[in-house]
Amino acid sequence: MARIYNFSAGPAILPEAVLQEAQANLVDYKGAGMSLMEMSHRGKEYDAVHTEAIANLKRLMGLDDDFSILFQTGGASMQFALVPMNLLGPGQTADYINAGAWGKKAIKEAKLIGNVNIAADTSKEKPSRMPKDSELKLTPGASYLHLTTNETIEGTQVKETPRVEAPLVADMSSDILSRPRDFAKYGLIYAGAQKNMGPAGVTLVAIRKDLLDRSSETIPAIMRYKTHAAEGSLYNTPPTFPIYIVMLVTRWIDAQGGLAAIAKANAEKAALLYAAIDNSGGFYRGTAAKEDRSDMNVTYRLPSEELEEKFIKEAASHALKGLKGHRSVGGVRASIYNAFPRAGVETLVSFMRDFQAKNG
Ligand SMILES: *Cc1c(COP(=O)(O)O)cnc(C)c1O
Repeated sequence: MARIYNFSAGPAILPEAVLQEAQANLVDYKGAGMSLMEMSHRGKEYDAVHTEAIANLKRLMGLDDDFSILFQTGGASMQFALVPMNLLGPGQTADYINAGAWGKKAIKEAKLIGNVNIAADTSKEKPSRMPKDSELKLTPGASYLHLTTNETIEGTQVKETPRVEAPLVADMSSDILSRPRDFAKYGLIYAGAQKNMGPAGVTLVAIRKDLLDRSSETIPAIMRYKTHAAEGSLYNTPPTFPIYIVMLVTRWIDAQGGLAAIAKANAEKAALLYAAIDNSGGFYRGTAAKEDRSDMNVTYRLPSEELEEKFIKEAASHALKGLKGHRSVGGVRASIYNAFPRAGVETLVSFMRDFQAKNG
Protein backbone atom coordinates (compact mmCIF):
# COMPACT_ATOMS: atom_id res chain seq x y z
CA MET A 1 0.00 0.00 0.00
CA ALA A 2 1.33 3.43 -0.96
CA ARG A 3 0.33 6.35 1.22
CA ILE A 4 0.24 9.65 -0.63
CA TYR A 5 1.43 12.97 0.78
CA ASN A 6 -1.81 14.41 2.10
CA PHE A 7 -1.75 18.22 2.32
CA SER A 8 -5.46 18.49 3.13
CA ALA A 9 -6.50 21.28 5.46
CA GLY A 10 -8.92 19.08 7.34
CA PRO A 11 -9.86 16.37 7.97
CA ALA A 12 -6.16 15.92 7.66
CA ILE A 13 -3.26 13.54 7.86
CA LEU A 14 -2.87 11.37 10.97
CA PRO A 15 0.27 9.62 12.15
CA GLU A 16 0.54 6.27 10.37
CA ALA A 17 1.50 4.56 13.62
CA VAL A 18 -1.78 5.73 15.16
CA LEU A 19 -3.83 4.40 12.24
CA GLN A 20 -2.01 1.09 12.46
CA GLU A 21 -2.58 0.73 16.17
CA ALA A 22 -6.27 1.55 15.73
CA GLN A 23 -6.47 -1.01 12.94
CA ALA A 24 -4.84 -3.70 15.05
CA ASN A 25 -7.42 -3.13 17.78
CA LEU A 26 -10.39 -2.39 15.59
CA VAL A 27 -12.31 -5.66 15.62
CA ASP A 28 -11.20 -7.12 18.95
CA TYR A 29 -10.17 -4.38 21.37
CA LYS A 30 -7.37 -5.83 23.49
CA GLY A 31 -8.96 -9.26 23.80
CA ALA A 32 -12.39 -7.95 24.85
CA GLY A 33 -14.04 -9.78 21.94
CA MET A 34 -15.58 -6.59 20.59
CA SER A 35 -14.54 -3.28 19.12
CA LEU A 36 -14.11 -0.22 21.31
CA MET A 37 -16.80 1.27 19.07
CA GLU A 38 -19.23 -1.34 20.33
CA MET A 39 -18.57 -0.81 24.03
CA SER A 40 -20.41 1.10 26.70
CA HIS A 41 -18.98 4.54 27.33
CA ARG A 42 -19.29 3.69 31.03
CA GLY A 43 -17.32 0.43 30.89
CA LYS A 44 -13.79 -0.04 32.20
CA GLU A 45 -12.05 -0.28 28.81
CA TYR A 46 -13.49 2.97 27.53
CA ASP A 47 -13.04 4.65 30.88
CA ALA A 48 -9.29 3.99 30.69
CA VAL A 49 -9.15 5.63 27.23
CA HIS A 50 -11.19 8.65 28.31
CA THR A 51 -9.18 9.21 31.48
CA GLU A 52 -5.86 8.87 29.70
CA ALA A 53 -6.91 11.22 26.89
CA ILE A 54 -7.80 13.91 29.44
CA ALA A 55 -4.64 13.39 31.48
CA ASN A 56 -2.37 13.45 28.42
CA LEU A 57 -3.99 16.58 27.01
CA LYS A 58 -3.67 18.38 30.33
CA ARG A 59 -0.04 17.41 30.67
CA LEU A 60 0.86 18.38 27.10
CA MET A 61 -0.83 21.76 27.56
CA GLY A 62 0.54 22.30 31.06
CA LEU A 63 -2.94 22.73 32.55
CA ASP A 64 -3.53 22.00 36.22
CA ASP A 65 -6.70 21.25 38.18
CA ASP A 66 -7.96 24.79 37.59
CA PHE A 67 -9.01 23.54 34.15
CA SER A 68 -11.63 21.10 32.92
CA ILE A 69 -11.10 19.20 29.68
CA LEU A 70 -14.33 18.53 27.79
CA PHE A 71 -15.00 16.43 24.71
CA GLN A 72 -17.85 17.84 22.68
CA THR A 73 -19.51 17.32 19.32
CA GLY A 74 -20.65 19.77 16.66
CA GLY A 75 -17.16 20.86 15.68
CA ALA A 76 -15.50 24.19 16.33
CA SER A 77 -18.51 25.74 14.60
CA MET A 78 -20.71 24.65 17.51
CA GLN A 79 -18.30 26.43 19.84
CA PHE A 80 -18.84 29.67 17.89
CA ALA A 81 -22.34 29.55 19.41
CA LEU A 82 -21.66 27.86 22.75
CA VAL A 83 -18.94 30.29 23.79
CA PRO A 84 -21.19 33.37 23.80
CA MET A 85 -24.20 31.38 25.04
CA ASN A 86 -22.21 30.35 28.11
CA LEU A 87 -19.81 33.22 28.69
CA LEU A 88 -21.47 36.38 27.43
CA GLY A 89 -24.00 37.60 29.96
CA PRO A 90 -26.84 40.05 29.26
CA GLY A 91 -25.68 43.65 28.96
CA GLN A 92 -22.05 42.60 28.69
CA THR A 93 -19.75 42.92 25.70
CA ALA A 94 -17.31 40.43 24.24
CA ASP A 95 -14.29 41.56 22.22
CA TYR A 96 -13.49 39.66 19.03
CA ILE A 97 -10.52 39.76 16.70
CA ASN A 98 -11.41 39.38 13.03
CA ALA A 99 -8.30 38.24 11.20
CA GLY A 100 -9.82 35.81 8.75
CA ALA A 101 -12.62 33.53 7.68
CA TRP A 102 -12.91 31.54 10.92
CA GLY A 103 -12.79 34.54 13.22
CA LYS A 104 -15.48 36.12 11.11
CA LYS A 105 -17.76 33.09 11.48
CA ALA A 106 -17.30 33.12 15.25
CA ILE A 107 -18.31 36.80 15.27
CA LYS A 108 -21.42 36.16 13.22
CA GLU A 109 -22.70 33.64 15.75
CA ALA A 110 -21.77 35.73 18.79
CA LYS A 111 -23.72 38.70 17.42
CA LEU A 112 -26.87 36.58 17.59
CA ILE A 113 -26.33 36.12 21.31
CA GLY A 114 -25.05 39.42 22.67
CA ASN A 115 -22.97 42.56 22.28
CA VAL A 116 -19.85 42.17 20.23
CA ASN A 117 -17.04 44.67 19.82
CA ILE A 118 -14.62 44.10 16.96
CA ALA A 119 -11.31 44.77 18.67
CA ALA A 120 -9.41 44.62 15.38
CA ASP A 121 -10.23 43.73 11.81
CA THR A 122 -7.44 42.70 9.45
CA SER A 123 -9.62 40.24 7.56
CA LYS A 124 -9.57 42.15 4.28
CA GLU A 125 -5.90 43.08 4.29
CA LYS A 126 -3.40 41.74 1.81
CA PRO A 127 -0.98 40.27 2.70
CA SER A 128 -3.04 38.52 5.38
CA ARG A 129 -1.88 39.28 8.89
CA MET A 130 -2.68 39.08 12.57
CA PRO A 131 -3.25 42.36 14.44
CA LYS A 132 -0.68 43.48 17.00
CA ASP A 133 -1.61 43.95 20.67
CA SER A 134 -1.18 47.70 20.26
CA GLU A 135 -3.92 47.81 17.59
CA LEU A 136 -6.59 46.19 19.76
CA LYS A 137 -9.50 48.43 20.74
CA LEU A 138 -10.60 46.65 23.86
CA THR A 139 -13.77 47.10 25.90
CA PRO A 140 -13.15 47.83 29.58
CA GLY A 141 -14.67 44.94 31.55
CA ALA A 142 -15.22 42.80 28.44
CA SER A 143 -16.55 39.28 29.07
CA TYR A 144 -13.66 37.86 27.09
CA LEU A 145 -11.44 38.45 24.06
CA HIS A 146 -11.90 35.89 21.29
CA LEU A 147 -9.13 35.11 18.85
CA THR A 148 -8.27 32.45 16.29
CA THR A 149 -4.68 31.37 16.86
CA ASN A 150 -4.27 30.02 13.34
CA GLU A 151 -6.36 31.23 10.43
CA THR A 152 -6.43 28.03 8.40
CA ILE A 153 -7.61 29.63 5.16
CA GLU A 154 -5.39 32.74 5.14
CA GLY A 155 -2.30 30.92 6.46
CA THR A 156 -1.59 33.24 9.39
CA GLN A 157 -0.73 32.32 12.97
CA VAL A 158 -0.61 34.15 16.30
CA LYS A 159 2.89 33.62 17.69
CA GLU A 160 2.59 35.41 21.04
CA THR A 161 -0.41 35.27 23.31
CA PRO A 162 -2.02 38.75 23.52
CA ARG A 163 -1.62 40.42 26.91
CA VAL A 164 -5.07 41.60 27.91
CA GLU A 165 -7.11 41.73 31.08
CA ALA A 166 -10.24 39.92 29.89
CA PRO A 167 -10.20 36.12 29.78
CA LEU A 168 -8.82 34.89 26.46
CA VAL A 169 -11.00 32.56 24.42
CA ALA A 170 -9.20 30.92 21.53
CA ASP A 171 -10.16 28.82 18.55
CA MET A 172 -7.05 26.65 18.19
CA SER A 173 -8.59 24.17 15.74
CA SER A 174 -5.75 24.28 13.26
CA ASP A 175 -2.69 24.62 15.48
CA ILE A 176 -3.56 22.93 18.77
CA LEU A 177 -0.64 20.87 20.09
CA SER A 178 1.64 22.12 17.30
CA ARG A 179 3.86 24.19 19.59
CA PRO A 180 4.18 25.01 23.28
CA ARG A 181 1.88 27.89 24.19
CA ASP A 182 1.06 29.38 27.55
CA PHE A 183 -2.23 27.51 27.46
CA ALA A 184 -2.87 28.24 31.13
CA LYS A 185 -3.16 31.96 30.27
CA TYR A 186 -6.35 31.25 28.34
CA GLY A 187 -9.79 31.06 29.90
CA LEU A 188 -11.19 28.78 27.24
CA ILE A 189 -9.53 26.93 24.37
CA TYR A 190 -11.43 24.97 21.78
CA ALA A 191 -10.34 22.90 18.80
CA GLY A 192 -11.99 20.50 16.42
CA ALA A 193 -9.83 17.39 16.38
CA GLN A 194 -9.70 16.84 12.65
CA LYS A 195 -6.86 19.23 11.78
CA ASN A 196 -4.08 18.31 14.14
CA MET A 197 -5.29 15.90 16.77
CA GLY A 198 -7.58 13.17 15.48
CA PRO A 199 -10.56 12.41 13.29
CA ALA A 200 -13.63 14.56 12.77
CA GLY A 201 -16.36 14.10 15.36
CA VAL A 202 -14.82 15.37 18.58
CA THR A 203 -14.00 18.88 19.71
CA LEU A 204 -11.70 19.62 22.60
CA VAL A 205 -12.68 22.33 25.08
CA ALA A 206 -10.32 23.32 27.88
CA ILE A 207 -12.05 25.72 30.24
CA ARG A 208 -10.84 27.45 33.40
CA LYS A 209 -13.16 26.23 36.13
CA ASP A 210 -14.11 29.65 37.47
CA LEU A 211 -15.71 30.41 34.08
CA LEU A 212 -18.09 27.46 34.44
CA ASP A 213 -20.25 29.47 36.83
CA ARG A 214 -21.08 31.92 34.06
CA SER A 215 -23.30 29.33 32.32
CA SER A 216 -26.87 30.43 32.87
CA GLU A 217 -29.42 27.86 34.00
CA THR A 218 -31.74 29.21 31.31
CA ILE A 219 -29.82 27.62 28.46
CA PRO A 220 -30.49 23.92 27.76
CA ALA A 221 -28.40 21.62 29.96
CA ILE A 222 -26.78 19.93 26.95
CA MET A 223 -25.38 23.29 25.86
CA ARG A 224 -23.91 24.26 29.21
CA TYR A 225 -20.19 23.71 29.73
CA LYS A 226 -21.00 23.29 33.40
CA THR A 227 -23.11 20.20 32.70
CA HIS A 228 -20.34 18.49 30.79
CA ALA A 229 -17.66 19.49 33.28
CA ALA A 230 -19.71 18.13 36.19
CA GLU A 231 -20.12 14.80 34.39
CA GLY A 232 -16.56 14.51 33.08
CA SER A 233 -17.87 14.68 29.48
CA LEU A 234 -20.06 11.62 30.17
CA TYR A 235 -23.36 13.48 30.54
CA ASN A 236 -24.42 11.81 27.33
CA THR A 237 -22.60 9.42 25.01
CA PRO A 238 -19.34 11.06 23.91
CA PRO A 239 -17.78 10.27 20.49
CA THR A 240 -15.84 7.33 21.94
CA PHE A 241 -13.88 6.23 18.89
CA PRO A 242 -12.64 9.73 17.92
CA ILE A 243 -11.60 10.26 21.55
CA TYR A 244 -9.67 6.98 21.40
CA ILE A 245 -7.77 8.24 18.34
CA VAL A 246 -7.07 11.57 20.07
CA MET A 247 -5.65 9.59 22.99
CA LEU A 248 -3.38 7.64 20.63
CA VAL A 249 -2.26 10.92 19.02
CA THR A 250 -1.31 12.33 22.44
CA ARG A 251 0.81 9.21 23.03
CA TRP A 252 2.40 9.69 19.61
CA ILE A 253 3.24 13.33 20.48
CA ASP A 254 4.92 12.12 23.65
CA ALA A 255 6.88 9.58 21.64
CA GLN A 256 8.11 12.41 19.36
CA GLY A 257 9.46 14.23 22.42
CA GLY A 258 6.46 16.39 23.35
CA LEU A 259 5.37 19.79 22.11
CA ALA A 260 8.85 21.35 22.03
CA ALA A 261 10.14 18.64 19.69
CA ILE A 262 6.96 18.80 17.59
CA ALA A 263 7.28 22.59 17.31
CA LYS A 264 10.89 22.32 16.18
CA ALA A 265 10.00 19.81 13.46
CA ASN A 266 7.04 21.95 12.38
CA ALA A 267 9.16 25.10 12.18
CA GLU A 268 11.76 23.29 10.09
CA LYS A 269 9.15 21.94 7.66
CA ALA A 270 7.55 25.37 7.30
CA ALA A 271 10.95 27.06 6.84
CA LEU A 272 11.81 24.72 3.96
CA LEU A 273 8.61 25.56 2.16
CA TYR A 274 8.72 29.31 2.78
CA ALA A 275 12.33 29.38 1.61
CA ALA A 276 11.27 27.69 -1.63
CA ILE A 277 8.62 30.37 -2.09
CA ASP A 278 10.91 33.28 -1.22
CA ASN A 279 13.77 32.00 -3.38
CA SER A 280 11.65 31.52 -6.50
CA GLY A 281 12.28 35.03 -7.82
CA GLY A 282 8.62 35.92 -7.50
CA PHE A 283 7.22 32.89 -9.36
CA TYR A 284 5.66 31.70 -6.10
CA ARG A 285 4.25 34.45 -3.88
CA GLY A 286 3.33 33.92 -0.24
CA THR A 287 -0.02 35.47 0.71
CA ALA A 288 0.63 35.97 4.43
CA ALA A 289 2.75 38.71 6.05
CA LYS A 290 6.14 37.19 6.85
CA GLU A 291 6.01 37.70 10.63
CA ASP A 292 2.60 36.04 10.86
CA ARG A 293 3.21 33.11 8.55
CA SER A 294 1.62 29.92 9.77
CA ASP A 295 3.70 26.83 10.42
CA MET A 296 0.59 24.79 9.69
CA ASN A 297 -1.00 26.16 6.51
CA VAL A 298 1.37 27.56 3.90
CA THR A 299 -0.54 29.66 1.37
CA TYR A 300 0.85 30.93 -1.92
CA ARG A 301 0.00 31.95 -5.44
CA LEU A 302 1.51 31.38 -8.88
CA PRO A 303 1.66 33.95 -11.72
CA SER A 304 -1.80 32.98 -13.07
CA GLU A 305 -4.84 30.93 -12.17
CA GLU A 306 -4.16 28.69 -15.16
CA LEU A 307 -0.72 27.87 -13.79
CA GLU A 308 -2.19 27.26 -10.34
CA GLU A 309 -4.64 24.77 -11.79
CA LYS A 310 -1.88 23.05 -13.72
CA PHE A 311 0.36 23.00 -10.63
CA ILE A 312 -2.28 21.36 -8.45
CA LYS A 313 -3.13 18.80 -11.11
CA GLU A 314 0.48 17.84 -11.82
CA ALA A 315 1.32 17.73 -8.12
CA ALA A 316 -1.49 15.23 -7.60
CA SER A 317 0.04 12.95 -10.21
CA HIS A 318 3.24 13.02 -8.08
CA ALA A 319 1.29 11.81 -5.01
CA LEU A 320 1.15 15.36 -3.62
CA LYS A 321 -2.55 15.79 -2.88
CA GLY A 322 -4.87 18.29 -1.25
CA LEU A 323 -2.93 21.39 -2.35
CA LYS A 324 -5.82 23.45 -3.67
CA GLY A 325 -6.32 26.69 -1.75
CA HIS A 326 -9.66 27.38 -0.11
CA ARG A 327 -12.26 28.39 -2.70
CA SER A 328 -12.55 31.84 -1.09
CA VAL A 329 -8.89 32.75 -1.68
CA GLY A 330 -7.69 30.43 -4.46
CA GLY A 331 -4.04 29.60 -5.04
CA VAL A 332 -2.17 26.83 -3.28
CA ARG A 333 -2.38 25.80 0.35
CA ALA A 334 -0.06 23.20 1.78
CA SER A 335 -1.28 22.09 5.19
CA ILE A 336 1.63 20.55 7.03
CA TYR A 337 0.25 19.58 10.41
CA ASN A 338 2.14 17.64 13.10
CA ALA A 339 1.73 14.28 11.37
CA PHE A 340 2.88 15.56 7.98
CA PRO A 341 6.33 14.11 7.24
CA ARG A 342 9.32 16.27 6.38
CA ALA A 343 9.97 14.03 3.35
CA GLY A 344 6.63 15.18 1.93
CA VAL A 345 7.68 18.83 2.23
CA GLU A 346 11.00 18.03 0.54
CA THR A 347 9.15 16.28 -2.26
CA LEU A 348 6.88 19.31 -2.72
CA VAL A 349 9.85 21.69 -2.74
CA SER A 350 11.59 19.71 -5.46
CA PHE A 351 8.34 19.48 -7.45
CA MET A 352 8.02 23.29 -7.16
CA ARG A 353 11.51 23.75 -8.55
CA ASP A 354 10.83 21.44 -11.51
CA PHE A 355 7.47 23.04 -12.18
CA GLN A 356 9.00 26.51 -12.24
CA ALA A 357 11.81 25.37 -14.55
CA LYS A 358 9.26 24.10 -17.04
CA ASN A 359 6.68 26.86 -16.69
CA GLY A 360 8.57 29.92 -15.37
C1 LIG B 1 -11.75 23.95 10.42
C2 LIG B 1 -11.87 25.07 11.34
C3 LIG B 1 -13.11 25.38 11.98
C4 LIG B 1 -14.38 24.63 11.68
O1 LIG B 1 -14.36 23.38 12.25
P1 LIG B 1 -15.66 22.44 12.19
O2 LIG B 1 -15.20 21.27 13.00
O3 LIG B 1 -15.88 22.10 10.74
O4 LIG B 1 -16.80 23.14 12.78
C5 LIG B 1 -13.12 26.42 12.87
N1 LIG B 1 -12.03 27.14 13.14
C6 LIG B 1 -10.84 26.88 12.56
C7 LIG B 1 -9.65 27.72 12.91
C8 LIG B 1 -10.73 25.85 11.65
O5 LIG B 1 -9.55 25.59 11.06
